[in-house]
Order: sequence, then structure tokens, then C-alpha cells
Amino acid sequence: MLEVLSSKPLASESKGFAFWVKLVAPGLPSAGYLSCVIKCHSLIIATGARAQRLRLPHEDEFWSRGISACAICDRASPLFKGQVLAVVGGGDTATEEAIYLTKYASHVHLLVRRDPLRASKAMQDRIFNNPNITVHFNTEIVDVVSNSKGLMSGILIKTVDTGEESVLEAKGLFYGIGHSPNSKLLEGQVELDSAGYILVKESTAKTSVEGVFAAGDVQDHEWRQTVTAAGSGCLAALSVERYLTSKNLLVEFHQPQAEDNKKELMEKDVQEGFDITYAKHKGQYALRKLYHESPRLLCVLYTSPSCGPCRALKPMLSKVIDEFDQHVHFVEIDITEDPEIAEAAEIMGTPCVQFFKNKEMLRTISGVKMKREYRELIGANKWDLELSCS
Ligand SMILES: Cc1cc2nc3c(=O)[nH]c(=O)nc-3n(C[C@H](O)[C@H](O)[C@H](O)COP(=O)(O)OP(=O)(O)OC[C@H]3O[C@@H](n4cnc5c(N)ncnc54)[C@H](O)[C@@H]3O)c2cc1C
Repeated sequence: MLEVLSSKPLASESKGFAFWVKLVAPGLPSAGYLSCVIKCHSLIIATGARAQRLRLPHEDEFWSRGISACAICDRASPLFKGQVLAVVGGGDTATEEAIYLTKYASHVHLLVRRDPLRASKAMQDRIFNNPNITVHFNTEIVDVVSNSKGLMSGILIKTVDTGEESVLEAKGLFYGIGHSPNSKLLEGQVELDSAGYILVKESTAKTSVEGVFAAGDVQDHEWRQTVTAAGSGCLAALSVERYLTSKNLLVEFHQPQAEDNKKELMEKDVQEGFDITYAKHKGQYALRKLYHESPRLLCVLYTSPSCGPCRALKPMLSKVIDEFDQHVHFVEIDITEDPEIAEAAEIMGTPCVQFFKNKEMLRTISGVKMKREYRELIGANKWDLELSCS
């Protein structure tokens, strides 16, 4: 893994930048990393942004198990469907999240530290005219509380003026309190706005420095979605190509022909069509069959149609599964199509991957991790065809 520590424009006439990078890898000298300088003629910065947190005492314990920073992404989770939910924040993001959630929740509480809301007038009107939203002004969150099963059951809130504390019943808490762009290393070099987002020239990926382009959430304080980040990434890549061509610096590399996938993901396994010799499957029928009948390592990916990170994980995991072909079975479960399976598996958000062997769960991996992590886990637990045949 490479982490960029700092950057500096090159002093030489050839336009470009130098980066001080940390290379983190197993087996490196005791310091745990090598630092080196990479020089380049052009650069795309796509370091993203982090959702801000409240740092509640039980926040880490309930993160992705009741607390979420993305209503659009997690609202379809069985954990939240038909439940009383809460959103914290008073700006446009929080009010938009509260309105989104009313489509799935039985009721939504909007917890606002001050009075009035900071959101635009139009958003305020939508909030106050929605009977499924209750706004609590002058309210701070102290912590989240759980029931005897260890599931989130409420929010400990405090009235700012009186200091009085009470528990508000809610099965989920969504943060709408802003994001921090990962742009610290660029301070003083590339023009940033007051919140730290990289300023790009309108409808382009160009920053204040020639040859430096920005893409994704680090330059987008408004949309912050996978598809908008991908679109701006494409724009930035084309801009770099055009920039290098204009400077006569473009070098073309051609990728080797990709191998055809050996086993295509079946559209949807039905009782008649299920074939255990295929590595990849979809749906609860296949999952039940494989759970009981497969001697292989079973990898179950839980997804939902509105989940952006799922779209990133699916092709990546699919390639890893192809590497182990006959040693592993893979099933994709869409939690909106098979909610009872997701509930039984205690899936709190998507994407989520569970690994089973001989009907025992080995591990759950939430979110999108490095390819290596899935590969190592599968490699260490794959079904050994030769051993089982001898
Ligand atoms: C919990 C969650 C759920 C989401 N669900 C959805 C969804 O369902 N649909 C949707 O459309 N969007 C969703 N989003 C938003 C979506 O993930 C982002 O909009 C998108 O990932 C932004 O892409 P990006 O490339 O700009 O940044 P990121 O995906 O954040 O990637 C930035 C990368 O840069 C790396 N990086 C940062 N600093 C350095 C450095 N100094 N050196 C080297 N590397 C560095 C980071 O480690 C990271 O890998 C979700 C976001 C979150 C947090």
C-alpha cells in the first residue's frame, strides 16, 4: 500500500511534482515502511473524504450495527426497515437524509443541536410538512443505548438549555454532520476551499496548479456518490491524457488480452436450473443448497441495489473467485429480494461477505476491503480437491 505523505512541485524546468510516499508491506525493515520519492509530469488527486463522527462512547461498537453515515446507502438494510430512526444534524445533508429515511422507517427523529435549522428554506418546508418527521431542537446526543440482546435500542439525548437527559427510542442513528476531505497534505500547494475541498475550475478537473487534476469526493462537497466520483475520475483521466499530449509527453501502454471468465455468474438460480458444478450462484435457493451440500468453501456476498460500494466489490470478488474456481462456491444475495436470509444472517449493511466451511461460519467482512484480504482468506480455507479425492 502506498500512502502519500507530502508533495512538492519539481524545481527543474520539466513541469511536474515529487511525492514522498510510504510503502507499507509485510517483510519491510523494522520501521515497517520504505519512503521514497516518485516524480511525475501530471497527477490526479483522488484521496476522498471522511464522514465526521460524534465520537460517542459506544460509537465504534454500533458503527454499521445501528449507526451509519449514509442514509442513501443503508436505508434498505433489514435492520432499519419499518423502524423508528434518528438523524443528527441541522443542515441540508441531515434534512435530506431524514426525508430519504421516511420512505423506509416508521418514523424519523431529527436531532438538532441548535435552533433553527441551517438547511435551506425549501428543505425546512419539506421537513416541517412531513408528518413522519419530528424535529428536536437544542438537543445533543450523549450516547447510544442497547437492549439485552446487544442491539441498539435508543439514543441518550440531552436538552442543551436544561441539561436534562432522556432516552429516545430508535433502532438506528444516521450522521448528517458533514465530511472532511483528505486534503491536508496539499495545504499551501493547491487551492482549497474553506472546508478543505480542492477547488476545481467549473466543469473540469483542473486545480489551481497546471498539470494537477482532482477527482471524487476530495473536490465534491455536494454529491459524494460513487457514480459522481467515477464520472469525475474519468474526466480527470481524459484531462491528464490531453495535458500530456499537449506537452508531447504521452507514452501509450497496451494491456494484455484478458482471459475469459471460466464460470459466468448465473442470472438467478431456480430449483430446476441449479447446478452445483458452477462456482457462482445467486439467490436464496442456491445458498440453501450449497450450505447443506457443498464441500467447498462457501463465500456469500450480501448486496442491495442502492449500494454503490457493492458495485465496486462485486467485480473484484468475482475475479478472486475465478482464481480459486473449483475450490470455492460463491452466492450473491440481494437483501431486498431475500430479506429473511439477510435477517437470519444478521446483516447490518451492505456490502458484506460471509465465509462458511462445513456449515460453520469462518468470518464476516463488512464493507470493501483490499483484494488481498479476500484472496488470503480463501487461499487459507479453500476446499482441497486432491486431498478429498485421495
Ligand atoms: C459507509 C459508506 C457507504 C456508502 N455507500 C454509498 C452508496 O451506496 N452509493 C453511493 O453512490 N455512494 C456511497 N458512498 C459514497 C462513496 O463511497 C464515495 O462517494 C466514493 O467512494 C468516493 O470515491 P473517491 O474515489 O473520491 O474516494 P474514496 O473511495 O474514499 O477513495 C479515496 C482513497 O484514497 C486513499 N487515500 C487517502 N489519503 C491518501 C494518501 N495520503 N495517500 C494514499 N492514499 C490515500 C484512501 O485510503 C482511499 O482508498 C458511501 C460512503 C460511505 C462512507
